[in-house]
Amino acid sequence: MRIFHILTICLFTFCSSISATLAQTQTIAHRGYWQTEGSAQNSLASLQAAERLGLFGAECDVYLCADGELMVFHDPTVTIDGQEKRIEETSSSVLKTFTLKNGETMPTFDQYLQTLKACPTIRLIIELKSQSLSEKQQTELAQKILHKVQQAGLSDRVEYIAFNLRLCQEVHRLDPEAQVAYLNGDLSPQQIKALGLTGLDYHIDIYKAHPQWIREARELGLKSNVWTVNQPEDLQYFLEQGVDYITTDRPDLLQSMLQETSVR
Ligand code: MG
Repeated sequence: MRIFHILTICLFTFCSSISATLAQTQTIAHRGYWQTEGSAQNSLASLQAAERLGLFGAECDVYLCADGELMVFHDPTVTIDGQEKRIEETSSSVLKTFTLKNGETMPTFDQYLQTLKACPTIRLIIELKSQSLSEKQQTELAQKILHKVQQAGLSDRVEYIAFNLRLCQEVHRLDPEAQVAYLNGDLSPQQIKALGLTGLDYHIDIYKAHPQWIREARELGLKSNVWTVNQPEDLQYFLEQGVDYITTDRPDLLQSMLQETSVR
């Protein structure tokens, strides 16, 4: 009888620890929640839709343009009036004439922050884009983004990500309290920690090649984030790994998987 009790307690503890591990994963909508009515990638509507879905975060991409304005868009180029233009070499007055798939015009970063302000809970994960910026321009990009975030009183509602390690370090230097994660996948959790960054935000294949990195990140007090996970079996795999954040184009699917887990 005593053995039965001990086994029951062990089983209960095991199940609780699994659900505790699964429950901690949070959803980040990649370029906002855009696969829904009236939305588009990196649109203001995608941020609002992510808020309505009750997500932890929405990701967006920010460029420094030719006139020093900050614009939210993913691709390095855009076609306006039949002409392909590089975002970083085009003035914001021209970029603002580009229409997204949902009818919005390309948003400025200022508009994005105002929309975030009107959303009570969601966090904005800001990707700093740097295709062909000089080091001086990279510093300008980081300074402008952080200044606008601070001016808007939103420092505790945003996190920063970049493929460019120098940009990550620049954000950390400008605001040592900021959450900053590196995207490029070529540094171990120990190396990320040594640089003073707060997390790693890596492609699925990187974590699959280094399955110990999620655990190592947790032990070092770093956050782990994986992109861009859209297939149910991959979502399930990373939930079981206990990753902190999953960045996905299917936040609705991930949310329903998380809800099922918490009900179970
Ligand atoms: Mg991005």
